[in-house]
Amino acid sequence: MKTRYNQRNTIFSRMRLKPSTPAYQAYYANHPSMKEPDDALRGMDILANLRVSPEEKADIQHRLDACDKDVRTLYERFAAIPKNNTKEPISKEDALKTLQEEGAIAAGVVRLNETDYYAAYGGTGENLGREDYGQKPDKQYTHAVVFAVPMALDGVLSAPKAPSLLATKTAYLRMAEAGYALAKTLKERGYETVFASEDFYPAPLVPLAYDAGIGEIGMANHIVHPVYGNRIRLGAVFTTHPFQEDAPEDYGIEDFCKRCALCLMNCPSQAIKHKRRIVNGRPFFQFDEHACFKMFKRFGTDCSICLNSCPFTHGINDWVRKRMHKNRPNMDLVVKEHIRQRGRKPKEHRELFIKKEWFDGNHR
Ligand code: SF4
Ligand code: SF4
Repeated sequence: MKTRYNQRNTIFSRMRLKPSTPAYQAYYANHPSMKEPDDALRGMDILANLRVSPEEKADIQHRLDACDKDVRTLYERFAAIPKNNTKEPISKEDALKTLQEEGAIAAGVVRLNETDYYAAYGGTGENLGREDYGQKPDKQYTHAVVFAVPMALDGVLSAPKAPSLLATKTAYLRMAEAGYALAKTLKERGYETVFASEDFYPAPLVPLAYDAGIGEIGMANHIVHPVYGNRIRLGAVFTTHPFQEDAPEDYGIEDFCKRCALCLMNCPSQAIKHKRRIVNGRPFFQFDEHACFKMFKRFGTDCSICLNSCPFTHGINDWVRKRMHKNRPNMDLVVKEHIRQRGRKPKEHRELFIKKEWFDGNHR
């Protein structure tokens, strides 16, 4: 029996629940073990602990707000586009080219099943004026074109400092822009279509990106792209346009993770676990989301240390990657060389942690 994803179970939905509201009471009546650890982390002011001057913080907030506004504008524009009554198909090649022109570095297609969709939305779309908590996604879309946009490397390498947060936010905007461009084309050609954004996901994208062969699921449960590693954000266009579907790809990343585990070793909260868990046939790892989210609040950013700890994020050239495929000694050489060049723990992390009291178990 397949696991149904429910956006209400995501930490970003749960953190938005306001104590004493009917939604809060109903959720924790059904999930009593989550109440205490969630309450300890509640409140979404991630920026509160950002270690920058008040002026810099105001500038960062301004830039984050500007990204949110741009995403809202895209959805308003999209709603105003008239849908053609006659269907005019587009080739998959042209559809993917549209995404590529908007900066996508990889894309693939999946055919959607009922279980790919969230069972219910989690109310994470307030930026778009959506009040969808508990509502069921519209499941009329048959296909999803899933894609990845890159995050700025210098931003990711600065993690967990402020530039990494801006790299994340900017990539979310780029992914909405790319999604908008393709969704616009498909709507104008007569197909029911929506595009995902940071604020709107009818389905979780990591499973779909895995199915579409964008990359493999790394130890931190992100998609790891063979060239860009962890420094990507995923987008998707959900549509009734039929496209030839893709399949998962073996890039050798899953095997490499078993020899590497640098994200696990560098994670300041021990959120990343070695233990595999298979969900709907896809290989994930166990993960402590409370521990991870605690670091978001500690740093005032989305942490992202796992992103910049990954050898793939720093780039493994294609020639080398092919030679380490199913070849453990070569994988070990790559890990060793990565550590020789960059250190096991990037030096910029050492000055930021580790404080003993962070691991006092309070987040549990
Ligand atoms: S974001 Fe930070 S705390 Fe969360 S898993 Fe990655 S390294 Fe660990
Ligand atoms: S850091 Fe290593 S273990 Fe973690 S996702 Fe990257 S390759 Fe896999």
